[in-house]
Amino acid sequence: MSEFGTPATNKNPLQYVSETLQELRAKGVAPKLRVLEGEQKSVCLFDGHEVINLASNNYLGLTSHKALRKASVEAVKKLGVGAGAVRTIAGTMKLHMELEEQIAKFKQVEACVVFQSGFTANAGTVSAVLGKEDLIVSDELNHASIIDGARLSKATIKVFKHKDLEDCERILKETADWNGHKLIITDGVFSMDGDIAPLPGLCGLAEKYGCIMMVDDAHASGVLGRGGRGTVDHFNCHGRVHLQVGTLSKAIGAMGGYVCGSRDLIDFLYLRARPFLFSTSHPPATAAACQAAFALLDSPEGEKLVKKLWANTKFFKRELKKRGFQFKTSETPIIPIHVGDAAKAFEFSRKLFEAGVFAPAVGYPTVAEGKARLRAIVSAAHKREQLLKAAEILGEVGRSLGIVS
Ligand SMILES: *Cc1c(COP(=O)(O)O)cnc(C)c1O
Repeated sequence: MSEFGTPATNKNPLQYVSETLQELRAKGVAPKLRVLEGEQKSVCLFDGHEVINLASNNYLGLTSHKALRKASVEAVKKLGVGAGAVRTIAGTMKLHMELEEQIAKFKQVEACVVFQSGFTANAGTVSAVLGKEDLIVSDELNHASIIDGARLSKATIKVFKHKDLEDCERILKETADWNGHKLIITDGVFSMDGDIAPLPGLCGLAEKYGCIMMVDDAHASGVLGRGGRGTVDHFNCHGRVHLQVGTLSKAIGAMGGYVCGSRDLIDFLYLRARPFLFSTSHPPATAAACQAAFALLDSPEGEKLVKKLWANTKFFKRELKKRGFQFKTSETPIIPIHVGDAAKAFEFSRKLFEAGVFAPAVGYPTVAEGKARLRAIVSAAHKREQLLKAAEILGEVGRSLGIVS
């Protein structure tokens, strides 16, 4: 017996975790992690199977681009592997500052702050800018990192129906005499439906009701707008969005997130955004890869890659439609194939994988219950024959499961 005496019960206090896990496995909604051997590419080896990869956010194929690779390796040789401190102590390297300037210029704004991820950019920024007296008006399908940031801020959160300007205005009318600050926030491109936010309309509402306007362009950066400058550029809403968030982990091909806005906003975030203050900055290799990526986007090669992404998207959607698939919401390279039942969506994904196509199923809590789907993402790096083959396999497996007739 230990000096602390015998325990009151022999029960493992984490027993409930094991029980929940067993339930999820029994329902067929606990997929295993797929393990990638080799590089993130359009055809690659997951769990020892060669598959056509429709699962990554590597929109432009930059994860393995030679210019980014070279910049990264050189940064490691010259500057080592770590930043060694948080940005506000000793972890601000020259290349962090250069990257921020480069992104600000690319986005045509005064200033930019880079975070460790898109998630921390959202969560850290919303909770720094808003407080408990304030109001957040949020699209119902906004990303989890926005939702967490809103909760951390302790502000009042009101949710409007997806992309519904009337519903958004209803909330703004009801809260017209609100005393605190007000923020309208939306994803630029919605990650699970592939549709685009009604940005000009939301900017109009923000202006009419005196709100701060914020857009999370994680899936729009490198995809929409000139050279992938995002939804603000796509809709020509320059100057109307106070906070533009982007990620460096998707089309940019590396890792990180950023916020663009006025110089004062960014200087304020340097002082108040908790992930910036309390978590170490990017290693040199990551910052250097991002610099190379923006240099590329700003060049004719970058424009060509974005064009190729859209041409591939159009081609693949046409091939899927020929085979009876519908995906009404999608306006981007994100293609959601509605299944409904989560277990069936996971079965669809599993069978596709066995047949040589990797497209993940998404179910609760990533999407609402009963709205499970398969999500396929096209990239500029896919070859036509790969996309054609993927569409054929999707058609065959979809028919065998009764998802298409
Ligand atoms: C992926 C994503 C993020 C998070 O970005 P990371 O850099 O992967 O942390 C934030 N918002 C949206 C809409 C996303 O899709």
